[in-house]
Amino acid sequence: MDLSVFARTYEEARGKFLAAARAAGAEIEHWPHPLKGPAGEALACDTAWLGPAGATRVLVVISATHGVEGFAGSGPQVALLQGPLARTLPADTAMLVMHAVNPHGFAWQRRVTEENVDLNRNWVDFTLPLPANPGYAELHAHYCPPALDAATLDAAEAAIDAWTARHGLHAERVARSTGQYTHADGIFFGGTGPTWARRTSEGILGKYLAHARTVAIVDLHTGLGPYGYGEPICNHAPGSARVQRARRWWGDSVTEPLLGTSSSQEKFGLTEFGYERALAHADIAFVALEFGTYAPPRGGIVLRDDHWLWQHGDPHGPAAAAIRDALRDHFFPPHADWQEMVLFRADQVFRQALQGLAS
Ligand SMILES: [Zn+2]
Repeated sequence: MDLSVFARTYEEARGKFLAAARAAGAEIEHWPHPLKGPAGEALACDTAWLGPAGATRVLVVISATHGVEGFAGSGPQVALLQGPLARTLPADTAMLVMHAVNPHGFAWQRRVTEENVDLNRNWVDFTLPLPANPGYAELHAHYCPPALDAATLDAAEAAIDAWTARHGLHAERVARSTGQYTHADGIFFGGTGPTWARRTSEGILGKYLAHARTVAIVDLHTGLGPYGYGEPICNHAPGSARVQRARRWWGDSVTEPLLGTSSSQEKFGLTEFGYERALAHADIAFVALEFGTYAPPRGGIVLRDDHWLWQHGDPHGPAAAAIRDALRDHFFPPHADWQEMVLFRADQVFRQALQGLAS
């Protein structure tokens, strides 16, 4: 398996994606981001459309919703553009490959956007009352300690453990990661309005999918579940036509957080809720293809340290590189076996999606 489709920086990943898109003959568009990366490099979401302009059946593949997860997501996108699926698209079928929808997070090796927002909690309707997460408010100060010395961290962990002993493991998980809309300096923050990344994604959908009739969406993620396994997580309403479609296309490996069958749990403001609204004219099925890496406590540590760096430390200072690279290695293990599993499974899921679109 050719692991050269992966990259070690955003800029390198972007170069590989654009080269593969050009070689495939795709229609390429750049959606420039207003800020720069750590090396002063330009940032953008780049899109590649492959297939007839008016195709009504479309496979959409998204990377870097959680910026740093773009290291893993970019590789299968490049492999898809280079591989046989791109050369043998059926009639009336196209691919829309969206590279780095959160380019700032990708380049700076962060999970969040430049607004400190979790893009996968940002797709709420901001004209309505925002979801409440009272558990998060109780734990915010402990999730986000102001210093990383041993005494401060020990106290924070003891407070979280005591809260968990009172409320249970599931309640702590809900408090931490379901999404919160009250602490702009916190973790898993859903935002106060649509982020640049969400607005840009909406622009891309409006431009390319207004005439689509059937759409399969695969949003590439990492960090939850067994090491190397790709779980197609479906958050459409249980029992809905969209879930049934996802099961027809991707089979029994599809999991549903709302039924308790997933390594994920119920969450607010997910990307697929936005896609359901934007693509209400089409028959869609959306899965987050989630590749497991390491155990959740390790993820909590790297996210805590990243958060400290941006809220209390110096993202340009001497401590920054080690924290950034620890985050990247957590969400993109630098090991050939893990990366091979990602490429195999992603290709399988893309192929199933195209077969589903043709059925
Ligand atoms: Zn993710």
